[in-house]
Amino acid sequence: MMATTHGLVGLAFAAGVAATTRDPAPVVLWTGLLGGVLPDLDLYWGHRKTLHFPVYYTATAALAGGLWTATAATGIETLSASTALLALAVLLGAAAVHSVMDAFGGGLELRPWEGTSDRAVYSHFHGRWLPPKRWIRYDGAPEDLGLAAVAAAPALLATTGVVRHAALLALCVSAGYVLVRKPMVRVTEWVVARTPDRVLGYVPERFVADLR
Ligand SMILES: [Zn+2]
Repeated sequence: MMATTHGLVGLAFAAGVAATTRDPAPVVLWTGLLGGVLPDLDLYWGHRKTLHFPVYYTATAALAGGLWTATAATGIETLSASTALLALAVLLGAAAVHSVMDAFGGGLELRPWEGTSDRAVYSHFHGRWLPPKRWIRYDGAPEDLGLAAVAAAPALLATTGVVRHAALLALCVSAGYVLVRKPMVRVTEWVVARTPDRVLGYVPERFVADLR
């Protein structure tokens, strides 16, 4: 799935948490967006492995959420500390949702619509790659954009100002990415075919493996 889809899903998750906990602090929404995007910062360094933790993010998010619930119930924390703990739980929760969602998308190959890779996301807990279920066939597929639109709805309908604009921007970027997704691979192939081997040594393997 697109990083923007993940960001919007994280934002929707945060909006749900904010509504449930009645803590409308903007930081809770922003950490949802950030947590949704965060795992994909490993795009060039062990993509879907280095910063993707389907089990460990889930466990630590549950721990942080449990701590927040306990402290909120006893009232032993100040309001700002309570919000910080909630934001941490949302950050980890959104990163967990992202990592788990990747297992329902396509594989890691350069042309994921061909469905040749058996690697969707790495589970450090299981010590192996989880296979792609391909409910969303590949990042940038039309159904990926549909998911992004659904995920953007809470932010577009229930928030205002910068958060709402960020959701709208993410949705527009998603639509643009869907349009260029396949042509972009053809451009990559063209560039790789004309790049010296010594330079290709610095390019992540998944961009060149299919072309050799
Ligand atoms: Zn990812």
